[in-house]
Amino acid sequence: MLKECIFCQIIAGDTPCRKVYEDDEVLVFHDIQPAAPVHALIIPKTHIASMNDVGREQEGIIAAIHRAAQITAIELGIAETGYRLVNNCGPDAGQVVHHLHYHLLGGKKLGMTQ
Ligand code: AMP
Ligand code: ZN
Repeated sequence: MLKECIFCQIIAGDTPCRKVYEDDEVLVFHDIQPAAPVHALIIPKTHIASMNDVGREQEGIIAAIHRAAQITAIELGIAETGYRLVNNCGPDAGQVVHHLHYHLLGGKKLGMTQ
């Protein structure tokens, strides 16, 4: 838990979120500024700053994130229509929250962006 981290605050229950799914390792909630009809964020419950900080010890968390993405896609009705799982790492990708997170996007035909 990093006190000044907004996602750690959400995990701690100090900042509200619209929760979709939770298990021992991850929390999933709706993005506050959705970029698609379905836009959820999947985050590990432990503070990891970015993809650059994911090592062998975090393999279980990455698997949990993928499992949560599948469950969330079913829950939010986009498992069959399709979805995209996106991680932004670092300034060129526009990472603004420095707590590892994956965007789950769907609910419309998604264009390729760069
Ligand atoms: P990124 O650019 O990959 O760091 O994306 C951070 C995402 O977090 C953005 O899509 C924001 O809209 C979202 N976000 C920031 N604060 C909150 C919050 N309190 N609740 C939900 N989503 C948030
Ligand atoms: Zn954090």
